Amino acid sequence: MTIPPAPTHERPKALAVASQKGGVGKTTLSLNLALAFAEGGYRVLLIDTDPQGAIGLSLSKKLTERPGLVDCIAGEAELETSIVRTSLTNLLLLPLGQLAPSETQAFGSAMADGSRFGALLTEASHHCDLALIDTPCGFGGITLGVLRNATHVVSPIQAEPIALRSVDQLLEMVQSLKRQGAPLKIAGLVISMLQRDDERSVASARDVWDLFPPQLLFDASIPRDPVFLEATAVGVPVGMLRTPRPAVTHIFELLAAELALRMQLPTAQPNDGPQALVD
Ligand code: ADP
Ligand code: MG
Repeated sequence: MTIPPAPTHERPKALAVASQKGGVGKTTLSLNLALAFAEGGYRVLLIDTDPQGAIGLSLSKKLTERPGLVDCIAGEAELETSIVRTSLTNLLLLPLGQLAPSETQAFGSAMADGSRFGALLTEASHHCDLALIDTPCGFGGITLGVLRNATHVVSPIQAEPIALRSVDQLLEMVQSLKRQGAPLKIAGLVISMLQRDDERSVASARDVWDLFPPQLLFDASIPRDPVFLEATAVGVPVGMLRTPRPAVTHIFELLAAELALRMQLPTAQPNDGPQALVD
């Protein structure tokens, strides 16, 4: 499937993966969605913005030695040369780059008003149809800079009793950024780490399903499954762990398909009507 290239003067659609809480599955969602979108025919640029982060570290140790986002934001490297190709034709990666712990605050300040990150996204439109951005937990400078420029945000909600509080914080943050003129829309809340055999986990998921309108929810939710730990340990999306693929891989295909509709990503050959099943 080929997708028409995005017009070069426009920014690509940009989907931020964000949440107030850490350890809820943001990086897992980012990496697995990246695979699903790329296999769906979209040219994806996966951007790692988390200094604690994980995508660069987990994908390959070599990535941490390369220039990346921090160097581009500091004006010390070009986007073009910082982008890393992956084994998938449609998936490009912008790693974080080298960042000493003492430089994290300065990086946050450089990101916070969103202008430099916005310029980077405009440049990225030459390379991708979709920028998928993994963010650090909370709404510090780095995440703010991302959310000021993202067209959409998706948030994993861990199926546990205090989950609703973190949804409220996300909704408040999005409202506040919108009031300041950000083009941001909520693409949805994904229940993550759902344990169907645990009453409290199911009850928390039900609270989210009851409270929010269908257009913010997904039919698919992500179960708690040891296969994710296994995939994180070797730094690949679950779909690249083995063949046949773990069944949970398909959850991300469902999520990506729904997100593509909500974000109005261009389809290769739009067709209004049903296709004939038999000629
Ligand atoms: P975040 O980016 O929000 O901090 P991660 O995606 O890094 O969260 O996930 C934190 C840890 O939890 C990782 O070790 C990851 O493998 C594990 N994990 C993520 N999602 C699941 C899941 N659905 N089931 C089991 N473990 C998970
Ligand atoms: Mg993470």
